[in-house]
Amino acid sequence: MRYISTRGAAPVLGFEETLLTGLARDGGLYVPESWPTFTSDEVRGLAGLSYPELAARVMLPFLGDAIDPDEFRGLVADTYATFDHAAVTPLVQLDHQLWLMELFHGPTLAFKDVALQLLGRLFDLLLARRNHRITVVGATSGDTGSAAIEACRERSHLDIFMLHPLDRTSAIQRRQMTTVLADNVYNIAIQGTFDDCQDLVKAMFGDPDFRDRLHVSAVNSINWARIMAQIVYYVGAAVTLGAPERAVAFTVPTGNFGNIYAAYGARAMGIPIERLVVGSNSNDILTRFFRSGVMATAPVTPTLSPSMDIQISSNFERLLFDLYQRDSLALADVMRRFRASGSYSVAPNQLETAGALFAAYRADNDQTQAAIAETWRRTGQLIDPHTAVGLHAARMARSEGVVPDAVPMVTLACAHPAKFPDAVTAATGVHPALPERLADLATRPERLTVLPNDLGTVQAFILRHARLGEAQPRGNA
Ligand SMILES: *Cc1c(COP(=O)(O)O)cnc(C)c1O
Repeated sequence: MRYISTRGAAPVLGFEETLLTGLARDGGLYVPESWPTFTSDEVRGLAGLSYPELAARVMLPFLGDAIDPDEFRGLVADTYATFDHAAVTPLVQLDHQLWLMELFHGPTLAFKDVALQLLGRLFDLLLARRNHRITVVGATSGDTGSAAIEACRERSHLDIFMLHPLDRTSAIQRRQMTTVLADNVYNIAIQGTFDDCQDLVKAMFGDPDFRDRLHVSAVNSINWARIMAQIVYYVGAAVTLGAPERAVAFTVPTGNFGNIYAAYGARAMGIPIERLVVGSNSNDILTRFFRSGVMATAPVTPTLSPSMDIQISSNFERLLFDLYQRDSLALADVMRRFRASGSYSVAPNQLETAGALFAAYRADNDQTQAAIAETWRRTGQLIDPHTAVGLHAARMARSEGVVPDAVPMVTLACAHPAKFPDAVTAATGVHPALPERLADLATRPERLTVLPNDLGTVQAFILRHARLGEAQPRGNA
């Protein structure tokens, strides 16, 4: 299996290099040179498998000979043993033709665990083989940090330094990060804003000397392996609901277009998917694109679904590459224009191609609250605000006939309601409880280091603590 960059000017890589490289050297994103596909009989054969076995069957074709199949099966089994539901991503029926797929049974209660738990283990395996270490550096406003930390904790070939803005994350979000006491995990609270944290991280990635000395890396949403791991649950849901005989539709609350692109991947592999519906919050760059063919950034507005408060959908480039018939020169040109002017538009025939598969709806805060309240009233299920954006979009798509009544609709439940207790309580009057294993989160000891918003100080801290080589002594202040 070979991977090519959407912008055409980076080396063609195998799976191992693609995983470790992340963003392509030409600024593009790696995609498979061609999609592995399942025949109808093979799809039928996926019915009833355990999640780890399904995951191995779906992902092995992407690995080429990078990892021995039995070793990979072991890694996958180990990964999903950290989830607290035996089905890993269970389906819950809400209505006649409407299901929720719960993606929040992992360690940090959000869907990112499904991919990141695997990614951490894959990195560790491949780095151990090369006797190589990396230093993961990231910035978080609260949500993605914990998933990255849980993915890296106790991995022998990774250290992780996560910057968050001091006193500007919710207590739950902070504690999900700072109560991880593994000695390769460093939480740094910056005396500044999330933008300050991001600027510090960007500056560190832009410092070649620092980057090379520490082998600085990111575990961000553009890594191909994250998409690969997310394809699995789309295949699983489709097979459970009748594939290959019956097609399904998915609604995905998304900002970065990562999760829904994985659904597109499942379809490219031969899974019958009739429609993909995007749910946006008020930061509706994607919804506007699917209406108008114009991708234009706008200022970010804070909403009840903060993980989708994004105005640049980085993973959309992977779909755009296909809309340009994989013409990487044309695509690189579009991305250059987007960078320079903050917008681009596609041709009517390209919009038509996209619109034949995708639809998009937006939910503002009031509609989000209403969806939480209505779901609670009608089904007794508490849902988080991101899931609510998805359910609003799913209902719109159904009522407008965009998804025919005969087609089962699956909406992705991307976070546990207890991760966003304020919005849920305001809409329903019910306080969502944390799962048993996290019930004592509020009283667990925390460890973090407070640092000023100063690049030199932060770099010195990281240099002092990162394990640079095998023999390096270590300690966590
Ligand atoms: C990250 C996240 C999203 C958005 O995912 P995309 O990568 O933008 O598709 C949605 N909901 C929750 C809860 C998240 O954590």
